[in-house]
Amino acid sequence: MTNAYREDFPILLQDDTIYFDNAATSQRPRQVTEAMRYFDENCNANPMRGLYRWSIEATERYEQARADAAELIGAADSREIVFTRNTTESINLAAYSWALHNLKEGDEIVVSVMEHHSNLLPWQMAARQTGAKLVFLEPEPDGTLTEQEITSKITEKTRLVAIGHVSNVMGVTNPVKLIAQTAHKAGALVLVDGAQSTPHMQVNVQELGADFYAFSGHKMLGPMGIGVLYARKELLEEMPPFLSGGEMIEYVSRESATYAEIPHKFEAGTVNASGAAGLSAAIRYLKNVGYDTIREREECLTARLMEGLRGLPYITIYGSEDPKKHCGIVTFNIEGCHPHDVASVLDTENVAIRAGHHCAQPLMKFLGVGSTARASLYFYNTEEEVDRFVEKIGKVRGWLGY
Ligand code: PMP
Repeated sequence: MTNAYREDFPILLQDDTIYFDNAATSQRPRQVTEAMRYFDENCNANPMRGLYRWSIEATERYEQARADAAELIGAADSREIVFTRNTTESINLAAYSWALHNLKEGDEIVVSVMEHHSNLLPWQMAARQTGAKLVFLEPEPDGTLTEQEITSKITEKTRLVAIGHVSNVMGVTNPVKLIAQTAHKAGALVLVDGAQSTPHMQVNVQELGADFYAFSGHKMLGPMGIGVLYARKELLEEMPPFLSGGEMIEYVSRESATYAEIPHKFEAGTVNASGAAGLSAAIRYLKNVGYDTIREREECLTARLMEGLRGLPYITIYGSEDPKKHCGIVTFNIEGCHPHDVASVLDTENVAIRAGHHCAQPLMKFLGVGSTARASLYFYNTEEEVDRFVEKIGKVRGWLGY
């Protein structure tokens, strides 16, 4: 399979580095850096404030990014898109502005054992402050959440289900639509952590039934420092601001203030407009490649990688046996080798993978390990890289003296 996309990623053309840490952050194509450079060199001014040409163009580009993000995830209205720094901030916004004002003692927040810490700690905080209780969905050993588990844990006590769309460790896609249907029947809302799904699959928040949806630009070809919280308009209108100060007001007196309309009510201070311009370009690039192509390439590469690793008897792969259920993420351990040593020795061979607990310590406990190694692929990776990677993995034990 040829890979024409690679030419667009200068960092990948530098040398023979195998970059398999895409779940942590993806690389940026020229089109994204050029969009940001255009902004910096042609219209860098504080958006929303100025009445002059540069500021007006900055505002237009910022609002275009909002419309692009809304279209990407099928939001009904671009005012339902709030720009944040990243998924973590988006989830915190929902926790501080919605949960703290809507939960009380006796209420339950349902999360899964697989959550990234970013979709767990804000709910631990909300539970502590409101007296609500956290309830955990327990996956099967391969990461599957069964219907039985979902329908038994989501009850009339549930006020919110906060669920990762795709696990950053197992790569499993959770049945968000079923979870949302169950939650809505019980009168609960659903927040979806889309950090690992928006880069890989077509998302439609209305079809999924997500009341809140969070994602980060940097994992989907965009720059760091720009993220999105989608929330239904009625929710955003009722929620109080998370941060306050400049830009998010309508009128301010000495003692009080009225707030701007949504989404500006949630975007206090100077915004990351050049980051938003980069996100726009990333969305355009993703659309040009197409999610079908992305899935096809990732499935093919993942199958090749899993097959190669399975040929080494001392390797344990976590999650499903089926490469199609990994979303490009292959988490594994090499018997006798600490994952940190594996990642460090691979670095000396110009291979970048992740090792550690992947910000998912409850899941590590569930898997019965302290840490793992994780190779995460994206559509611009190649079969040749996978083959070289497997060959090097076969030598790791020898290099580490086992
Ligand atoms: N949720 C998941 C599933 C993730 O994989 C990540 C990033 N590792 C996050 C949330 C947090 O994303 P960010 O660091 O961009 O806030």
